[in-house]
Amino acid sequence: MTTDSCKVLMIFPLFNASSFWNYKEACDLAGARYPAAPLGLITVAALLPKHWEVKLVNRNTELLTDEDFAWADMVMTGGMLPQRNDSLRTIEMCRTSNKPVVVGGPDVTSSPDLYSAANFQVLGEAEEIMIDFITAWRRGDTQGVFKAPMGKTDVTKSPLPRFDLLKLDQYLHVGIQFSRGCPFSCEFCDIIELYGRVPRTKTNAQVIAELDALYALGYRGHVDFVDDNLIGNKKALKKFLPDLKLWQNKKKFPFEFSTEASINLADDTDLLRSLAETNFFAVFIGIESPDTDTLVMTQKKQNTRRSLQESITKIHEAGIFVNAGFIVGFDSEKSSVAAGMVECIEDTSIPVCMVGLLYALPTTQLTRRLLAEGRLFSGGEQTQSGDQCTAGLNFETNRPRRDVLNDYRTVLA
Ligand code: SF4
Repeated sequence: MTTDSCKVLMIFPLFNASSFWNYKEACDLAGARYPAAPLGLITVAALLPKHWEVKLVNRNTELLTDEDFAWADMVMTGGMLPQRNDSLRTIEMCRTSNKPVVVGGPDVTSSPDLYSAANFQVLGEAEEIMIDFITAWRRGDTQGVFKAPMGKTDVTKSPLPRFDLLKLDQYLHVGIQFSRGCPFSCEFCDIIELYGRVPRTKTNAQVIAELDALYALGYRGHVDFVDDNLIGNKKALKKFLPDLKLWQNKKKFPFEFSTEASINLADDTDLLRSLAETNFFAVFIGIESPDTDTLVMTQKKQNTRRSLQESITKIHEAGIFVNAGFIVGFDSEKSSVAAGMVECIEDTSIPVCMVGLLYALPTTQLTRRLLAEGRLFSGGEQTQSGDQCTAGLNFETNRPRRDVLNDYRTVLA
């Protein structure tokens, strides 16, 4: 190997077995191996020198072999909190095989100390700092930490992700991204800590080029806009949607879209119409709680001063169905929370709900408050088998823990 050629093995770690991200039954129904493709890693792959060879192994869909390790000059890995166990395992395997390993992604960025066994850490958004890592690697460095300023990366410089590295038929949907960041301030949210409260958007041409690339690879069907909040910058979105509609028309609507958005989407009839016209069929909305006091306390004020039922109905009327997230375990919650949540789900006719237990994610306002109150448990033991939704409550709850868990069970039933 010379310093200017390199074989990079990208390993997408396994999600914990009980993570809600797996939705295995839906995959079985559709003949897919996993719901979502690893968009972060294929974006990083596009930042590497063109002549470097890249191989991607997704541990959720395929086996990682000794031959893969033997082939590689370097391993890149990392992901989200529910992938932490396997990310750490992967680092260990690299150390055993004597392969330099680079880690990045949201969990590494939030908790870098846990990943200190890796040779290199790329913290934050990779676009503007990968070049520093590449320079260090070419120089012969064997370790280093490269840190991007949080929430500041210019996403118009983000490269076209290497969709060609994916085995597209293994997934329920493929992700693309229009924006990063969210203007709101929910206390439990780490998005705003990692990606900022000023949403940054790609150019229309960038996103259309991504769709062109997917189309050229023969992909058809479900594309998920993985934005933190697609309507975070409504002005930019409204400028983008006419181009997207034009593209869909020209190609005879090869894609159907889903995304995440805040509930104030319901207040903008024109925007709803434009989304439906471009073939958005589903949106995930964080409702979190039917209890106004809880929404105020957790700083989710955009969900207050409105009828949740009317808001969801307006989105349904536009022809877009709503998946929603609910959380049990907030401090201000009352014993009536389970009944209120069930009633809210039934009244809003939401067909797919993700009900989770509150988890204080690293770096959030919630974690800082619980720490100051001496209520945060140390370590990440709660996430050994599940994730922040299925194995949450990593803190001393306000109500008796047994009551909170009973309410969680009632809503799930
Ligand atoms: S609306 Fe969603 S993304 Fe935005 S701050 Fe709240 S939880 Fe985070």
